This record gives sequence, structure tokens and C-alpha cells, in this order.
Amino acid sequence: MNFDLDVVVSIFVFITGISIGSFLNVVILRALSNESIVNPPSKCPKCQKPLKWWHNIPLLSYIFLRGKCAFCKEKISIQYPIVEFLTGYLYLMTFLKFGYTFNTIFIIIFISLFIIISTTDIKEHVAFNLHSYILAFFGILYNYFNFGNLYEGNVWIFQTSFIASILGLLLGAAIISAYFGLGYLVLKTMIIGPGDIFIAGALGACFGWKHILIILAVAVGIQILTFLPIYFVKLIKKKDYITLAEFLIFAICASCNCIYPHIAVSILLIIIGAILCKRILDTLPKNLVELNEEMLKNESEETKISSEKEEIFHLPFGPALCCASLLFIFLH
Ligand SMILES: [Zn+2]
Repeated sequence: MNFDLDVVVSIFVFITGISIGSFLNVVILRALSNESIVNPPSKCPKCQKPLKWWHNIPLLSYIFLRGKCAFCKEKISIQYPIVEFLTGYLYLMTFLKFGYTFNTIFIIIFISLFIIISTTDIKEHVAFNLHSYILAFFGILYNYFNFGNLYEGNVWIFQTSFIASILGLLLGAAIISAYFGLGYLVLKTMIIGPGDIFIAGALGACFGWKHILIILAVAVGIQILTFLPIYFVKLIKKKDYITLAEFLIFAICASCNCIYPHIAVSILLIIIGAILCKRILDTLPKNLVELNEEMLKNESEETKISSEKEEIFHLPFGPALCCASLLFIFLH
């Protein structure tokens, strides 16, 4: 391969990426506000003035405008440059890893959908099923034609098949459904959003039934790692030092047990672990039906506490699933 040509193509891929990132921002915004993608033209959400073309240059406009609307000086959401840069960066990484293959085309389609799904989920805690259907469609298409295995010397990392893709779709959706159902039966609450069922199914269609198991496990790990710092900050704000101390003891016992495994330490670990689990579960809103009734009745003190609890625990799972998939693509 020609080195200079690769550099030129890399730059082209990055610029295409940030431009498509700019389009993804529009898709995200219009999906959340239920507007058409084509119409109306981009405008400032505050002063409603239509934007000029030079206000719409990916990344650069945000820097030149210093993050403010050119007309009313309203702050522009940091989401715009982040999504643009991330899209460009991930497109470039995909090209560098997979080169001139069908893999690159499909991976950038997957990545674009991951970005849309994660952003709507983080922003408004909604995952649109339509986006998951599109992802599932491309996943099945990819595996049906076995595009990844067309190249010698660039054997596809997923090594899946049409059957594995369909099984992955069913398995991903089934595991999250079971988890959803279990939470509803045992804890009488939504421990996971129903949209996650479709996301997990779509990822199963892309990566096959074996790999979706790895992705789900990694996603749970990512979710815990994101959740704990947020939870600790909440505990410090509430001055709940007892629970913090329990976490500390738990961590110390766990490390001791790793170095010198001992039955007494293991038992202590299980007991503290159980106490901590109960503490976390206690903060979940008790019953969704109850919660809705409370909210309808009045804006009482209790409702405020409940919605605060909900805020902690409805950490969206979609972004964790998408991050796990990215790790799988690039590190596998
Ligand atoms: Zn404005």
C-alpha cells in the first residue's frame, strides 16, 4: 500500500466522520423532538433563528463561536462537538484497523448507530426501537452475506454466520427480557429500560450468540464501574459515612482474600456484600405503580425523594452495551 495515499485517505475518513457526526446530532435532536430529519432547516433552539452555513461546520464552528449562538449568545450544547469528534475519531480508528474492506463500511454503520442510541439514552433516557431495528437489519445483512470473511489475511474477528446472528438476536433480547422480568417480579420496579431489550437483540444480530454473551458481561462491568463513583458522590453528599465505610471494608477484605484466601475473610466478604446489596436495593423506587400514583396525587416530599432515588438508579444501560461492543470491535 502507498503510505502517502493512506494518510490522505485517513484525513478524508476523519473529515467525513465529523461531518456525519454533525448529521447524527441532527438525527438525535429530531428523534427526541419528533421532527423530520430533512425539514425544517437547522435553527437555534432558543432564538429560533435559522443558522448560516458557516455556523454549521463540524467542530470548527463550535470553536469559532466559542460554544455560543451567533445571534443570542445562548450556550450551544457540548453534545455537538463531542458527537462530531467521537464519530470522526471512531471512523478513523475503524479505517486504520480494517482498511479497504467491507468490514470498514459495516463497522462505521454500527458505530453511527451506537452513537445515536447512546446519546438519546444519556440525554433523555430513551432508546428508540427504530434505531435498534436498523442496527439489527445491518447486523443480519452483514452476517448473511458473510462480508467479514471475504478477505484472506483479514479474517473477520466476529467469525459468525447467519444462524449465529439470528440466535444472537434472540439470545440478547431473551437475557435482557429475563432480567427485566425478574426485576419487575422480585423488586416490583424497572431495573432496566425496555429499550435495552431491543438494543441487546440488535447487538446479538451483529456479533452472534457467542459474542453477545461476552458483550453483555463486559457491559455489566462497565455499568458497575460507572455506577459506583456516582453512588459514592451521592453518599458523601448525604453524609452517609457508614455505607462508605462498609464499601471500604468490603474492598479491603476482597483484596486480602485475593492475596491470602481464608474462609473467615470469605464469609465476612459475603456478609458485607449482602448488606451492601440490600442498601443499594433499598434505594430503588419500591413500586412503579405506586410511584406513578404518588406523582399524580401531589408533589409531596415523598415523591421528590422517590424521583431522586430513580435518578440514581436509572443509569442508562444502552451506552454501556455500546461501549462494550466498541471494546469488542477494537480489542478483540
Ligand atoms: Zn440563538
